[in-house]
Amino acid sequence: MSLPYVGQPGTPTEQLTDGADNPQNGTKPGLDSLPASTADLKRIALELRRQIVIMIGKAGSGHPGGSLSAVEIVTSLLFAVMRHDPANPKWPGRDRLVLSKGHAAPVLYAALATAGYFPKDWLNSLRKIGSPLQGHPYARSTPGVEISTGSLGQGLSVAVGMALAGRLDRADYRVYAVVGDGESDEGQIWEAAMAAGHYRLDNLVGILDYNGLQIDGPNREVMNVEPLADKWRSFGWHVQEVDGHDFAQLLSALATAADVKGQPSMIVARTTKGKGVSFMENVVDFHGKAPTAEQVELALRELIDV
Ligand SMILES: [Mg+2]
Repeated sequence: MSLPYVGQPGTPTEQLTDGADNPQNGTKPGLDSLPASTADLKRIALELRRQIVIMIGKAGSGHPGGSLSAVEIVTSLLFAVMRHDPANPKWPGRDRLVLSKGHAAPVLYAALATAGYFPKDWLNSLRKIGSPLQGHPYARSTPGVEISTGSLGQGLSVAVGMALAGRLDRADYRVYAVVGDGESDEGQIWEAAMAAGHYRLDNLVGILDYNGLQIDGPNREVMNVEPLADKWRSFGWHVQEVDGHDFAQLLSALATAADVKGQPSMIVARTTKGKGVSFMENVVDFHGKAPTAEQVELALRELIDV
């Protein structure tokens, strides 16, 4: 049986997503009122980078490189774009954030703590037995974590399901999925890409953290993902390419994505793995290696000014 809401070519999508009578839809609570100036966002990003380095250093294990590369992406979403309420993490009308590259959990944890979802003290317990902050996001233990991720390729598929559910409910929330370039080796990413294109999910926005490296080396050597933008276009997505560390470009692209009708959006964000810490930038080894105590001190000396 086919879904009743699948848009056929030429079908106006507006009639499929009109949720004016849906009580879930409404005004934006909580952080929507934050004054998200670029200066504010840069200040938040710097703080997130410091927290990432500190928490992974304390844990003695973790993934600094891909956490640091996604800082501006996650900051833009949680502090400038998404409607959500840290005091009410399960508010039905919230926009959904899926960290499909779940190993970058530290950037999500730092952002959620800064937004007020849980006390910042929790960051000191990263990866400890019994801690709500496990090495990969665990939705049942961490307020603000929408879905457990880390098994690469699965998050985007869950995001597709959430977007379909929103359409069926005629809810007006958006689903944002942060995908990795190394993660794009997974076949399931492209199944999700095909499904989202097929269902013309214009309430789904992907942001691809294109840092060029993955656990075993440069993408182009391990598994070349180029031509990446063309691949997403060929699956029916609206594609934009931006500098993933430039807030003006990210916010502009996210605003454009919100206006796209009849197709899902992918923002290919070019980033630097380990961004902000000189000895981590573009160093494959820091994909999944914690800094030593001395390296934490060195990093914090660099992360002092925007
Ligand atoms: Mg990568």
